[in-house]
Amino acid sequence: MKLPFEKIAIANRGEVAVRIIHACRELGVRTVLLHSEADVGTRAYRLADETVCIGPAPTAESYLQIDRNVKGALSKGAQAVHPGFGFLSENADFAQACVDAGLVFIGPRAETIRALGDKISAKRLIERAKVPTVPGYMGDDQKLETLVTEAERIGFPVIVKAAAGGGGRGMKVIRSRAEANELITSAQREALSAFGSATVFLEKYLDRAKHIEFQVFGDSNGKCVSLYERECSVQRRHQKIIEEALSPSLTPELREQMSKAAVTLAETAGYNGAGTVEFLVQDGKFYFLEMNTRLQVEHPVTEMVLGVDLVKAQILTAAKQFVLWKDADLKPRGHAIECRVYAEDPYNRGLPSTGELVGLEWPEGPGRRFEVGFEAGDEVTPYYDPMIAKIIVWDESRPRAIQKMLAVIEETIIFGVRANLPYLKAILSHPEFQAGTMTTQFIQTHFPEGLEPKELSEIQKTFVAKAMPLASGGGLTAGNGGAVTPLTALAAPWRNSWRLV
Ligand code: ADP
Repeated sequence: MKLPFEKIAIANRGEVAVRIIHACRELGVRTVLLHSEADVGTRAYRLADETVCIGPAPTAESYLQIDRNVKGALSKGAQAVHPGFGFLSENADFAQACVDAGLVFIGPRAETIRALGDKISAKRLIERAKVPTVPGYMGDDQKLETLVTEAERIGFPVIVKAAAGGGGRGMKVIRSRAEANELITSAQREALSAFGSATVFLEKYLDRAKHIEFQVFGDSNGKCVSLYERECSVQRRHQKIIEEALSPSLTPELREQMSKAAVTLAETAGYNGAGTVEFLVQDGKFYFLEMNTRLQVEHPVTEMVLGVDLVKAQILTAAKQFVLWKDADLKPRGHAIECRVYAEDPYNRGLPSTGELVGLEWPEGPGRRFEVGFEAGDEVTPYYDPMIAKIIVWDESRPRAIQKMLAVIEETIIFGVRANLPYLKAILSHPEFQAGTMTTQFIQTHFPEGLEPKELSEIQKTFVAKAMPLASGGGLTAGNGGAVTPLTALAAPWRNSWRLV
């Protein structure tokens, strides 16, 4: 059936913009990329049918500007806007501004985003839906004494969070009464500067929990289904690194209960489109964390195990042409894992690494998917999230999927900037990850400092000695400008980390 829109504007960048372009093309819809000056010539820029520059590199002056995005979309005659994830994707004002300008916002309604976006109002909604939450304090009284008294009542450790927070930012774990004043005050200060509101709330800190989230999807009539779960317990500073579907540790009963809870919440909120209900699971009990009213970075693992296309489903829902999957269509098969590939130095505490991506090779093969925002010759700039790509694999079982991911990483080539591939390999090879018992403390416990620098083998030393004069016209120079470890001694463009494991 013909879609009601011929052109969709993409208010995003990088790999998710590419992902949306692919879905649009397959649906026969043209695309307009709304991009910053720094993103001219990126992969999404090259792939989009049309482009509009909406401002300079800093996100506050381009990707986060509601007006410029709306005007950019209108200027090229787009009829709908896909916000991707991050940036304005969960901004109710943006969703409303699109609608006010006569554009279809590909996502839930503005009022739904508003109700679920603020963590405090979301928690109230979930209490109405009778879904368990982590014990805590969400009161309006934000006086320091009150918050400290409440923290004591909850019992340490307690986590303090920004009500308007997101992306793992603005959270602090308070381990004792002695730390409470200082940490709460600094959380309030940071919340105000990062999210424009100093309101915080407190939760009991669950220190051996798994992060398990349910993908839900609602049609335009308010009926919602659950598309099973993803486990995202491998996190560094509350940010996910490796995700998988399904979780290796849910019993069928718990899965059923959580799935029902997620759907009840989505239906209570009148949800339409793709959304994710996040939970923490500890000692066989689950607790609601938050609902993300957008596509999730890790959506491909769900797509791989269920054989669905969530981005097309989002577009078709916005076009009022989506027929919701029947439960019988949603039977998970095999196991999928996603690794986030970052431009960072795994041997130097994950220090971001920028520069030209001189060479990139993604080893194609069955059950492998590469979501990539860059091509060889592109530059990783300091302006945005340093994620180069996501590698997703599918196989018939979890052990086979882990094995496949290890093999794919081994054959992946990234030249020019440092990448976290050795780090990902170390995580995937760890007995706790392989057993599937990891909690959100996994990275903190086993890899608090990233990886130890490694000595080069004789063969590697010979390779470097030969390659360096060719590559940079000079001998070995210290990449970190300081103490020369064998690895950091590799200067661009041969600063590869992939071979040195
Ligand atoms: P954000 O919206 O910033 O991503 P979330 O509330 O979703 O924040 O939490 C992100 C991560 O922080 C969780 O996956 C978990 O690892 C940790 N976290 C959040 N709340 C708690 C809690 N009460 N106890 C333990 N860990 C928590």
